[in-house]
Amino acid sequence: MEVPLLDLKAQFETIRQEVLAAIEAVIETHQYCNGPPVRELERLLAEYCGCAAAVGVSSGTDALLCSLMALGVGAGDEVITTPYTFFATAGAVWRVGARPVFVDVEPDTLNIDPSKIEPAVTGKTKAIIPVHLFGQMAEMDPIMAVANRHGLPVIEDAAQAIGATYKGRQAGCIGTVGCLSFYPSKNLGAMGDAGVIVTQDPKLAEKIAVLRVHGESQRYFHEYVGGNFRMDSIQAAALIVKLRYLDGWSAKRRAHAARYDELLADLEAVRTPVTREHNGSNFYQYVIRAPRRDELKAFLARQGVGTAIYYPLSLHQQACFESLGYQKGDFPHSERAAAETLALPVYPELTDEQIVYVAGKIKQFMS
Ligand SMILES: *Cc1c(COP(=O)(O)O)cnc(C)c1O
Repeated sequence: MEVPLLDLKAQFETIRQEVLAAIEAVIETHQYCNGPPVRELERLLAEYCGCAAAVGVSSGTDALLCSLMALGVGAGDEVITTPYTFFATAGAVWRVGARPVFVDVEPDTLNIDPSKIEPAVTGKTKAIIPVHLFGQMAEMDPIMAVANRHGLPVIEDAAQAIGATYKGRQAGCIGTVGCLSFYPSKNLGAMGDAGVIVTQDPKLAEKIAVLRVHGESQRYFHEYVGGNFRMDSIQAAALIVKLRYLDGWSAKRRAHAARYDELLADLEAVRTPVTREHNGSNFYQYVIRAPRRDELKAFLARQGVGTAIYYPLSLHQQACFESLGYQKGDFPHSERAAAETLALPVYPELTDEQIVYVAGKIKQFMS
């Protein structure tokens, strides 16, 4: 049996006509960049996330970059974040000239440990970026409490977390801004790159919208130095169609996760993902922890099962961040996760037979 990590074709086939019609309609208007469908998607996403405003941008990475620019983070500043995330989180901090200051993750959820944030705050700290890893939100109450005590903005990296909840609240709407990604593999995936910034602050949204078009508040009159962070109209049109299916897809991911939990429960060596009681995960990824992880990955590949390692190297150990001066051993929970985690297929169109097969192969390897 073949069980790929992700099957974008299977999903596309269920909505082919609707998506192609929406894309064709955009082409007929020839308004390709930041056009009317982007306005419509922004309205829908603000409503979906429960935010006052949404600004469609070119990617999740640019959402982070543009948010940092809008908040005035720059050279000499520090931004506290997690070392166990996709590179873009810390890369965006570096690109505005600021220093990423890492603090370790919780050993079970692998989200930033809120108790480690306050000791890392200095006079140079300008923002905090928690990441909602694998679709589970970070501990936002204590994070917001620290931020409020020090007057710091919070940028939620919600790239993996659309539709995830924390104590009933949607990802992206608790912090100062929330950055979402529509990279094709995300729960809500475009047919290319796209992202959005959501916020409860309409003034900040206005500034972000200006930064998105090279900081021009009026055509060819530049209030700030921004960038080209525009979203393609074609991406917006496709996302409008797909947004209607998102909750159904995420419900299927949750059901698949529950099924894996059940099937892997008696395997002592394998740790299934931990979800806090007050969290609603969207199961962007279903990530187990296993001894001999690399051997398990290779074994599963031979059995036709696609898996992935998110992430094999903690960010404080990346070559490009060498000058930050971190050492191996600085963040033991993050480093240990990098050695043990393995993401299993959990995409919505997966069948029960496939899930049973994957779990069976993991059992076979472990025995
Ligand atoms: C996907 C992702 C991003 C970047 O989003 P892109 O749309 O690929 O630029 C940022 N942070 C995290 C945690 C992500 O998973």
